[in-house]
Amino acid sequence: MSTVALITGAASGIGAAVARRLSAGGARCVIVDLDGEGAERLAKEVGGVALAADVSTPEASQQAVDLAEERYGRLDLVHLNAGISSGVDLAAFDLAQYRKAVGVNMDGVVFGVTATVPLLKRSGGGAIVVTSSLAGLVAFHGDPVYTMTKHAVVGLVRGLAVPLSRENIRINAVCPGFTDTPLVAGMRDMFVGAGFPLLTAEDVAAAVETAFYAEDPGTLLVVQPGRQPVPYRYSGVPGPVTGERPPI
Ligand code: NAD
Repeated sequence: MSTVALITGAASGIGAAVARRLSAGGARCVIVDLDGEGAERLAKEVGGVALAADVSTPEASQQAVDLAEERYGRLDLVHLNAGISSGVDLAAFDLAQYRKAVGVNMDGVVFGVTATVPLLKRSGGGAIVVTSSLAGLVAFHGDPVYTMTKHAVVGLVRGLAVPLSRENIRINAVCPGFTDTPLVAGMRDMFVGAGFPLLTAEDVAAAVETAFYAEDPGTLLVVQPGRQPVPYRYSGVPGPVTGERPPI
């Protein structure tokens, strides 16, 4: 029986590299992206199935789960990866721009979790990896609202990790530094000019695969160029506050 994976933001960059990597390993992939043509193209390339959808709406994640179940009958791996830089200028606040960033980067992950966990459970368990960012652990002065959203999903992963592990579901995150994808195209020349090394999407995809199988609940893998991904360790704060109520 093939592994079935659902990947959001999979038409480009990191998500596309993950879809290619998992498909090369024999997985069947559900490719979800706002860019329907890009999703179709990649689905054709990897022999998966595409869904054009906006992850900031709860219906999108449910449609993706329904498609996985209808086509492949199960779900094993979920990569909640769709994300955008916010560009929000807090001194000239644009509410629509703010809501869009929060909608994709935070709501999209929450909706992705709530929609996929029931099918993961029915499939006997599985794993979720969220694409956070190095900006989920450290300050990125260039985009504080992006920094907020990426910290927020780290909090969700940490809060869910132990309770979901009791359901045989791992939830972990990757926290990559700057990666050479269309998301940072506007800054690429500056990075190259400054000799600043960039990750490749394939580097991050390899870390995502590692994160799927990381046993420590709530592993946050720091991914930086030229180094092996390492789990982030908090220091100086107490351990988790535990509760018995299943989160979902
Ligand atoms: P990318 O722009 O190449 O890919 C992002 C994909 O998400 C695109 O195909 C886009 O169409 C899709 N998308 C955007 N909004 C969507 C929505 N509402 N619904 C569904 N799909 C949507 O960028 P990337 O660098 O591959 O980014 C992937 C993830 O990695 C993002 O969460 C990003 O924040 C994170 N990240 C990127 C970097 C970097 O330097 N590139 C670093 C750390 C984290």
